[in-house]
Amino acid sequence: MNKELFLEQLCEAAGKEAVKRNEPMKKHTTFHVGGPADYFVSPEDEQHFLAAAALCRKEGMPCYIVGNGSNLLVSEEGFRGVMMETGKGLCYIREEEGLLKAGAGIFLSTLAKEALRLSLTGLEWASGIPGTLGGAVVMNAGAYGSEIRDVLVSVRVLDLDGTVKEISAEELQLGYRSSIIPSREYIMLEAALRLPSGNRDEIKAQMEELAAKRKARQPLEYPSAGSTFKRPAGYFAGKLIEDAGLRGFRVGDAQVSEKHCGFVINRGQARADEVMDLCRQVRQRVYDAFGVELELEIKCLGDFGDREGS
Ligand code: FAD
Repeated sequence: MNKELFLEQLCEAAGKEAVKRNEPMKKHTTFHVGGPADYFVSPEDEQHFLAAAALCRKEGMPCYIVGNGSNLLVSEEGFRGVMMETGKGLCYIREEEGLLKAGAGIFLSTLAKEALRLSLTGLEWASGIPGTLGGAVVMNAGAYGSEIRDVLVSVRVLDLDGTVKEISAEELQLGYRSSIIPSREYIMLEAALRLPSGNRDEIKAQMEELAAKRKARQPLEYPSAGSTFKRPAGYFAGKLIEDAGLRGFRVGDAQVSEKHCGFVINRGQARADEVMDLCRQVRQRVYDAFGVELELEIKCLGDFGDREGS
C-alpha cells in the first residue's frame, strides 16, 4: 500500500485528529531524546485503538506502543512505523467485582490517588513512578520492596492474531523488570488489580514518605528514564558505577547523575547515541573493575549499531 493511502486509512481507523506525521519522540520520552516516528497515533478510545492496531497488522506496518516513555530510549533515526500512544484512549478506572480495573494508559500516580481515595492499600510504592499502568505491567515495575506483580490479577490484551483476550498474571511470567508481553507482542489494554482495604491516613503517610525519599535521592530535576541498569544479583548498579569512579561521567550532554549514579540524565541537549555511548562505557568500566555485567533496564528502540536496539 502506498504511503498516502496508508495515512488515509490510518486516519479513518484512529480518527483524523489522532494522527501526526514525523513526530519527534523526544516529545514523548522522559529522557527528552529521540528522533521522529513516521506516524504517531493517540486514539481517543479503545475502539479506535484496536482499529489502528488491526490496520497496522493487516498492512505489515511496524507498530510500537508507548505509555509515558519513561523507560524508553529512541534512536536519533527514530521509528519507521506507527507509534501508538495509550495515554489518551486507554485511560479509565473502574471498580468491578472487588477489583480495580484500569486502562493501560492510566498514570500510576492517578491510579495510586484513586486507590487512596477508596482507602485501598498496595500501590503506595507506585505513586511516584512517572509511567503508565501498561508500562508498569510490561516492566513489572517495582520500588521499595513491592512490585506490580503483588497486586496484579489479570490483564486484557490484543494478541498477534487480532484477538482480545484475558490472561492471568501468572501467565505473564512477571520477573525482575520483565514479562512475556514484549516477546508475545501483546498489546495490553487493561489490567485488574486486587487491593486490600487499608487505613487512608496510613496510605497517605506512606505515599508522602516515599515521595520525600525519591526527591532526596533521585535527580528528578533532570530528564532521565529512571534507573538505567538492572540491579545485578548481589550488587547495586549505582554503587558499582560510583565505585568505578564514574560519578558525573559525561558523554556530550548525557551524564551519570552526580546525585544517584544509577541514573543517566540528560543535561540539556543529549542525543540518543550519546546516551548509548555513555551506557556502553559505563558497562565496560564496571566490568573491567569488578567483573560484573550490567544489563540495561531501559528499552532501546531503533538502530544503535548493535544488539541493544530493537
Ligand atoms: P514506556 O516507557 O512508555 O514503555 C516501556 C515498555 O513497555 C516499552 O517497551 C513499551 O513498548 C511497552 N509498553 C508500554 N505500554 C504498553 C502496552 N499497553 N502494551 C504493550 N506494551 C507496552 N521503574 C520502576 O520499576 N521503579 C521505579 O521506582 C522507577 N522510578 C523511576 C523514576 C523516574 C524519575 C523515571 C523517569 C522512571 C522510573 N522508572 C521506575 C521507570 C518507568 O517509569 C517504569 O518502568 C514505568 O512503569 C514505565 O511506564 P511507561 O508508561 O513510561 O512505559
